[in-house]
Amino acid sequence: MSRTGFFVGGERVQGSGQPFASVNPATGETNYELAAAGAGDVAHCVAIAKEALARSQWCGLRPPERARILGAIADGIVARSEDLAMIQLRENGKVLAECRAQVASAAATFRYYAAVCETAGAEVTPSRGDYLSMTSYEPIGVVAAITPWNSPLTMEAQKIAPALAGGNAVIVKPSEVTPSGALAVAEIALAAGLPAGILNVLTGTGVETGIPLVSHPDVRMVSFTGGTETGRSIAKIAAERLIPVALELGGKSPHIIFEDADLERAAAAVQDGIFEGSGQSCVAGSRLFVQRPVLQRMIELMRARAEAIAVGMPLDPGSKMGPLASFRHREHVERFVHSARAEGGEILAGGGRPSDAGLAKGAFYMPTLIGGLDPSAHACREEIFGPVLCILAFDDEEDLVAQANGTAYGLAAGIWSLDVTRALRVARRLEAGTVWINTYKQLSIATPFGGYKDSGIGREKGVGGMRLYQQIKSIYLGGVRL
Ligand code: NAD
Repeated sequence: MSRTGFFVGGERVQGSGQPFASVNPATGETNYELAAAGAGDVAHCVAIAKEALARSQWCGLRPPERARILGAIADGIVARSEDLAMIQLRENGKVLAECRAQVASAAATFRYYAAVCETAGAEVTPSRGDYLSMTSYEPIGVVAAITPWNSPLTMEAQKIAPALAGGNAVIVKPSEVTPSGALAVAEIALAAGLPAGILNVLTGTGVETGIPLVSHPDVRMVSFTGGTETGRSIAKIAAERLIPVALELGGKSPHIIFEDADLERAAAAVQDGIFEGSGQSCVAGSRLFVQRPVLQRMIELMRARAEAIAVGMPLDPGSKMGPLASFRHREHVERFVHSARAEGGEILAGGGRPSDAGLAKGAFYMPTLIGGLDPSAHACREEIFGPVLCILAFDDEEDLVAQANGTAYGLAAGIWSLDVTRALRVARRLEAGTVWINTYKQLSIATPFGGYKDSGIGREKGVGGMRLYQQIKSIYLGGVRL
């Protein structure tokens, strides 16, 4: 089997790290083998990126010129959309429709940041003397972008596009579970006219490739999406080095149903909110809080929906839920369901692997509902990142807010109520970076996204998503009277 190299300075290279296999989680078969970057390869890549910034004048290009290349990258993604969707499907097992949607989202992100790059201005600040004072937004330099496996194409686009728009060079370290989408996007970017060395991709594990990257003295910023504990360890290195970090971390988002809600609509949203992508979403609504008078009705609705979800092969058009992204991750999910049983939880649906023999070789897990747990149970407090919904009851607003805010996380929340004043009041009291009212999991590249508490630091997306990758320089021009 030939080994896929990583991407440095516009070329595929083999590294000194431990090669690793990409595995299809729907079948257990090996897709291909990939090269891994060791510390020496990381140092070489950082030097290439730094040199490319100096040589290519990428940050010196006028914004419309940078925007034209970002737009061409979007075109290139669209032209290869089926290929990109299949790469993701083979690596993380999401169903085809979802993979296609994520490719479309990645292309839209490049278009959005082309527009931001071209239209975002700088400021002339109020003068207090005979001078003209102004701000200019400058690149930070070489940026490391480290990403997880659940939605690699969209996550990587959300870092690469604004960082390039801001004039930086980028080194992506994709998850070892989903390494290939970023490699394809780097090739597309080169073909679209991005100077060689401005976008590089290093494949490998967090320990072998990620740590040397974050620790390298010429990496001037780290943008990370992934688990909270990994984010914390990256932040410690960044603190020592005094470099900025943007951290998009885990979640345990509450999905809240008041007794006056449209229960049918809410149930549909709760289903998508937890089971889309097999629950492997940072904003998965994994704790369902139901006001006590409608608890039983909601359980019935959710049970009917969970049992009707077609779990199947990702390429089968009838499948609504594919496997988990890896066998190791399925074990993680299974441990949580086991602990929930041990802590007195009642399995209301699912709770195990599918019985269909055709799925036995893949990392499949059934949509699972658990009731009867205390909010302090592990499954109710910690991120499972799988198709597991814990159903909890509440009595009134005070009780609800205390329970909903009762985890270390604060990424997102959903509220269903026909009383909009109440919904807004509760939205203001929830510790979450995004709150949806009478909808769930609406995401827009134009709207800031990020977490409170242990769910992260900084906000991606929106115009500020480009500013995240820039530093402000203030310039005074003397001898001017305005
Ligand atoms: P992870 O933290 O294990 O790995 C994420 C990335 O970090 C991978 O590329 C990995 O190789 C790398 N890495 C691991 N250890 C490292 C280290 N010490 N130094 C540098 N890099 C290191 O996360 P995962 O299992 O790939 O993804 C799942 C997690 O991601 C979940 O917690 C989920 O909530 C989170 N996530 C958050 C968001 C968000 O926007 N907030 C979005 C998607 C996923």
